[in-house]
Amino acid sequence: MNIFKNALTTLSLLLTLGSGAVMAQVKPLDAGKALDPMSPEVHTIKLGMANAYLLKTATPVLIDVGGAKDMPALVEGLKAQGLRPQDIALVVLTHGHADHVGLAAAFKQMGRAKIVLGEGDVPMARAGDHGTLAPQNFTARMLDRFAIDPRFQAFEPDIIVTSELDLSPWGVRGKAVVMPGHTPGSLVVLLDGRRAVVGDIILGGYLGGAIRPQHAGQHYFQADVPRNEDNIARLMKQGVETFYLGHGGPVTRKSVADAFPIAAATASSK
Ligand SMILES: [Zn+2]
Repeated sequence: MNIFKNALTTLSLLLTLGSGAVMAQVKPLDAGKALDPMSPEVHTIKLGMANAYLLKTATPVLIDVGGAKDMPALVEGLKAQGLRPQDIALVVLTHGHADHVGLAAAFKQMGRAKIVLGEGDVPMARAGDHGTLAPQNFTARMLDRFAIDPRFQAFEPDIIVTSELDLSPWGVRGKAVVMPGHTPGSLVVLLDGRRAVVGDIILGGYLGGAIRPQHAGQHYFQADVPRNEDNIARLMKQGVETFYLGHGGPVTRKSVADAFPIAAATASSK
């Protein structure tokens, strides 16, 4: 009887120790990840048409700046995080369309932020005009005709990305990677392997994200559809789980796989 009781005590002790050991292994790792200052949270700032994203580090990084009329909304969004536009150290532009780069010139004039753009979109920045878009459907043709002004205040990027830019000097474990497709110079910001800010490579929901924003789909305009599909496959292949979008979103890997089955199949086959 005593032996039996002892065995039970030993067993429960082992179980306790065992679970304790597991806890000890998991807890510090999780806590460490959450506290990793190099993997900041992605703060969404909703603007008139597009989203901007803030990575709040000691040298704050802003991804996209919205259209020419978005300064009040951007000021509000930054204020909610205790920042002002002049505190931003780096502005990464996912691409050169007017609804994403409209305030780039204004940020340059503030004097602190360095402006980052993919090489292929530099002609748009210098012209202050994103030119003709390639509509993918009827809604897109209507938008292009009546709702989108291609012009914005021209600017000269401080950093022109030809392949990729390491963001660690700005306190972020991640990089801006050139992925032409939506535009010739589209950039994707890849964070710690699992999160990506992809601009207009994918569209969230309908009517610019007003309806079902968490539903991934094809954007209204794509300069090069097969190449864009390839980008999505590449991002899935790299293990991205959460996609932050230029309009609507964020969307999950599953939603992206449902919307882009060819890309998903490519990602799992290569
Ligand atoms: Zn765009």
